[in-house]
Amino acid sequence: LLEIADLNKRYDQHQVLKQLSLKVKQGEVVVIIGPSGCGKSTLLRCINGLEAIQSGSIHLNGEKISHRQKDMHLVRQKIGMVFQSYDLFPHLSIIDNLLLGPVKAQRRNKQEVIQEAEALLTRVGLLDKKDAYPRQLSGGQKQRVAIVRSLLMQPELMLFDEVTAALDPEMVREVLDVMLELAKEGSTMIIVTHEMQFARAVADRIIFMDKGEIIEENQPNEFFNQPCTERAKQFLNMFE
Ligand code: ATP
Ligand code: MG
Repeated sequence: LLEIADLNKRYDQHQVLKQLSLKVKQGEVVVIIGPSGCGKSTLLRCINGLEAIQSGSIHLNGEKISHRQKDMHLVRQKIGMVFQSYDLFPHLSIIDNLLLGPVKAQRRNKQEVIQEAEALLTRVGLLDKKDAYPRQLSGGQKQRVAIVRSLLMQPELMLFDEVTAALDPEMVREVLDVMLELAKEGSTMIIVTHEMQFARAVADRIIFMDKGEIIEENQPNEFFNQPCTERAKQFLNMFE
């Protein structure tokens, strides 16, 4: 589904991603972990076409993803991204926040999207909040709405960048559970997280990055039980 080959990304003189290659299959859940500043967010932003890259290539279903492309918004619609901050529109109700993309940008049938939105809200336990405004929701609730908003665009690939990092501990579980369920249903996902228990439970494959490179790549059990590299061992020790 996704194929990244020899990706190089620099900010000025600073090489952030170095000859990075990665393939993700349909239905696969890949979790990326690694120290702060190693380039995880930058990688997701490149995949989503938000960053110009210096060399290498990124293909989604054989279609090239490139920053400058004219029809990039069409490619980007196939990729859903959820960040640490949920940026819902404060002046719109939850349901209107959800309808914006599918109805305005994708021009889909409004009634159809409403039904789908309500079904998804039910699944994440928030149907009763559909007419509320973002400020009336907790952080965890807003983050679940942000996930629903991405799913409504019917993406082929979902990217999650530390979606629970800004949440109070008691809100984290409810958001992770939604992601676990999506994974079970066969969504293709790339997840950046510092929640190691969750990473182990959700991942088909763990990617360990350091300084812009993939250092280690393995099944979760193998990776967590027997990391091969010294750097991965040191990193995991911080979470003991
Ligand atoms: P964290 O775990 O803290 O979120 P990360 O792995 O997501 O870290 P990135 O945000 O991808 O790291 O950043 C990688 C490197 O690129 C860092 O050294 C950062 O300072 C640098 N960087 C990121 N964004 C920019 C930017 N817009 N301009 C210049 N440098 C940047
Ligand atoms: Mg980051």
